[in-house]
Amino acid sequence: MISDRIKKLSPYKTETTQARIRLSSNELPLRLPEDVRLRISQEVSKIPINKYPDPNASALKEVLSEHLRVKEENIVLGNGSDELIYYLNMAIGELSRGVFYPIPTFPMYEVSSRILGRQRVEVPLDHNMDIDLNASLLAIKTHSPVLAFISYPNNPTGRCFTRSKIESIRQEGLFTVIDEAYFHFSKKTFLEDAVSREDTVVLRTLSKIGMAGLRVGILIAKEEIAYEINKMRLPFNITYPSQVIARLILTEFYTLIEECINTVIKERDRLFRELSQMEGMEVFPSDANFILFRSNFPAEKLYKALLDRGVLVRNVSYLPRLERCLRVSVGLPEENDAFLEALEDSLKSFT
Ligand code: PMP
Repeated sequence: MISDRIKKLSPYKTETTQARIRLSSNELPLRLPEDVRLRISQEVSKIPINKYPDPNASALKEVLSEHLRVKEENIVLGNGSDELIYYLNMAIGELSRGVFYPIPTFPMYEVSSRILGRQRVEVPLDHNMDIDLNASLLAIKTHSPVLAFISYPNNPTGRCFTRSKIESIRQEGLFTVIDEAYFHFSKKTFLEDAVSREDTVVLRTLSKIGMAGLRVGILIAKEEIAYEINKMRLPFNITYPSQVIARLILTEFYTLIEECINTVIKERDRLFRELSQMEGMEVFPSDANFILFRSNFPAEKLYKALLDRGVLVRNVSYLPRLERCLRVSVGLPEENDAFLEALEDSLKSFT
């Protein structure tokens, strides 16, 4: 008796292809030194794994509240921000009302809406990969959605949308989720709105700052909103090891993360310059830790040629507006060099 809603879903595609250099999932290329790894394993070995973890992850929340400069009551933690996207989609407005998001964007907004049977109000981006405000306002008037998901910066296009356009959408009465998964590379935020307004929340994650394997997502909201969302949370959604390791890394080794973020920002700008100089290449500016680019060749052909040379990127050409586009995550300098070399070599082999 599986519902049609679920039967119609296609399984969520995660990238499992093996490659020498993986630049496909927008992870931080953080390499923890041996002594740090040892310190982590010592702490992990002390965990009583026969016991349930702290359901409120209080020790981790305490550190996060210091980092974010918000109260612990403003925070809800999820098993990745993926889980928080589900909770928000379940919690905001009646399910009979729609969900708005510009496309292309992060697929989980669509997936969670489909699972809940909510109407999807999807509006293609304009040619600058920004929100098409007129089309969005028209779609909002026509379909009256109550919830908006905004990836800020947007995955997979890379830029932060114009702030005033987001505000105009919110102005129409939509509860607005600002997904700041890539905040550390953009430094642009709606955090002040999230703690002061009832119609705005911000999502952050530890995934893009070196801890994707821990699965810790962070919702920041006004206390009253956070209180309600927290009621829906599965009781032990942050595992014991995740609570312990995330807290340890954030308190003792955060400078390693900061250094790596700075390297990635510098490398992103270098990659952008180098890609822009390649003939026939269209490169989209990025506020995130990845770059979208379009070549003259079929995306699948270039994707395969790169993979043959040991470099895995993401083929996003099936998405609206993204014909012949690939997305590359920014890695360590030597990984980016290998990518650029593989790209030049692939393009040469086509001509
Ligand atoms: N939001 C955006 C915009 C993302 O790109 C991603 C991951 N690629 C996520 C959320 C999910 O992050 P998490 O690992 O915290 O579930």
